[in-house]
Amino acid sequence: MMSNTTLKTRLDQVLDQVAQAAHRTGRAADEITLIGVSKRKPVEDMQTAYAAGLRHFGENRAQEVRDKFPGFDPEGITRHFIGHLQSNKVKYLPGRVDIIHTIDSTRIADAVNQRFGAQELKIPCLVEVNISGESNKEGVEPTQALDLASYCAELPNLEFSGLMTIGPLTADRDRIRQAFQEMKLLTDQIAHRVGLLQPLLSMGMSGDFEIAIEEGATHIRVGTAIFGAREY
Ligand SMILES: *Cc1c(COP(=O)(O)O)cnc(C)c1O
Repeated sequence: MMSNTTLKTRLDQVLDQVAQAAHRTGRAADEITLIGVSKRKPVEDMQTAYAAGLRHFGENRAQEVRDKFPGFDPEGITRHFIGHLQSNKVKYLPGRVDIIHTIDSTRIADAVNQRFGAQELKIPCLVEVNISGESNKEGVEPTQALDLASYCAELPNLEFSGLMTIGPLTADRDRIRQAFQEMKLLTDQIAHRVGLLQPLLSMGMSGDFEIAIEEGATHIRVGTAIFGAREY
């Protein structure tokens, strides 16, 4: 568990970096939503982060979502699901998450539609894109993103809201920037095609969120820089 002051200091530092990155590109800091990725961290740390002002929380495992929410449900939070989904785990999510970032197949889209529909819920969803083409990455190829987005947009209990990606795992900052630029272009093209006025673009983690903001991210997913290193 992290001390309250350490966590607050880290969160403030990240918020400061967000504001500076936004400022560099003439964006308002409040255009960017900071998601604190609390995976593998105890609820106590999430409460500390909430007290320090964090309102968006990200989790990547359905069982962890089931175990943490709604036990942790303070006023005004948004719960983001950011992990790879298997159809048989979707059942843990209705009522426990407010947006899913990781739709990567029609099969998962169908499962989400069915499970949320059964509870008469409509869930905002992003399509995950493997922008860097790395073979170990989840997400659809960029050329398939429009098809999946259109498919999601037609499902009654999904609200197609934009795209998500994980940047390339490299120290090469130019390559990361190029991938994020491609994501921004793709997001705008797809939004235009499906008639989405304000598409969300979820990209940027602890190591690359400033580049992501400079290249148009609306949502950044920051774990380590706020909550510290994970033990597993
Ligand atoms: C864990 C995770 C993050 C946060 O990673 P950090 O490097 O700790 O900031 C962001 N996005 C996804 C999809 C993750 O699984």
